[in-house]
Amino acid sequence: MKAVLDDRQRVHDPKMFMANGTRLPNPEQPERIEVLRAGAEAAGCKFEAPTDHGIGPIAALHSPEYLVFLETIHERWSRIEGASDEVIPNIHPDRRTASYPRSAVGQAGFHQADTSCPISAGTWEAAYWSAQTALSGADAVMAGDRAVYALSRPPGHHAFGDLAGGFCFLNNSAIAAEAFLKAGLRPAILDVDVHHGNGTQGIFYHRRDVLTVSIHADPIRFYPFFWGHADERGIGEGLGYNLNIPLPRGTDNAGYLDALGIALRRIQMFGADVIVLALGLDAHENDPFQGFKVTTDGFARIAEAILNLGTPTLIVQEGGYLQRDLGANLTSFLSGCQRA
Ligand SMILES: [Zn+2]
Repeated sequence: MKAVLDDRQRVHDPKMFMANGTRLPNPEQPERIEVLRAGAEAAGCKFEAPTDHGIGPIAALHSPEYLVFLETIHERWSRIEGASDEVIPNIHPDRRTASYPRSAVGQAGFHQADTSCPISAGTWEAAYWSAQTALSGADAVMAGDRAVYALSRPPGHHAFGDLAGGFCFLNNSAIAAEAFLKAGLRPAILDVDVHHGNGTQGIFYHRRDVLTVSIHADPIRFYPFFWGHADERGIGEGLGYNLNIPLPRGTDNAGYLDALGIALRRIQMFGADVIVLALGLDAHENDPFQGFKVTTDGFARIAEAILNLGTPTLIVQEGGYLQRDLGANLTSFLSGCQRA
């Protein structure tokens, strides 16, 4: 199976985030790249570097104001006397107004939803190449590959058009889906990360040309809390084109596969001719976030069910954090893809 990876994704190295009011080491570490790469190679993947598609396909979904912010904020923030090394907001406007703050502190609050998306000197470069990795994966699918793995990192599915959050800056899966759409295809995004793909939902919520489906731990007591509930179905002409399947904490393989069947039926009835699979491996029983109890073998069965639809699939890496089974979970998933 073809796979895509760019080494420049390593230069984003976040140090901290806050959970329950406590400063903790940020789990979205560059070391994930080595572990995931080894896991994919163990499944027979051959990695290539992405090509540069420029800012165009990114700007199709992210506002220019936000992109300028991501590219320049660290340097501007660093000029504040006593500022931390990472841009972390200390103000969170709950209803953002039309007026745009001029100060670095105000803009950080405007564009960063939480404390788990700290911006350092390398963040823009890494996020840019993470998006290009997904776009090059999309190229390979359009060239005829049945399944392609894009090792995109930092992940993307919590990023809205003008808002970072949850370790995410640019929405790689959404950017790839938009590229498929522009090429005349009919894409569905299936998000199997244990967290709801709130940014992806937000980007396409008003639209009916991209179906968005997410299976995730019930946000009533889980990140991202404010999104991912079953009654969020889209709005305007997008009504009925977003499907959320929240499941109880601790859901196992059997419960997961039942939900997946519902998701795949929806994708079939949408008439999708390409799937963007937002692949989080954090549904695993040993993931530090402890949402679900999917096993390593369960990932192979999930992959087989998806690939058995026979629809060309771009697999974009989302979450899944350092723990002893992370690499094996990816090997299992990608092996399942190739068996289907
Ligand atoms: Zn996640």
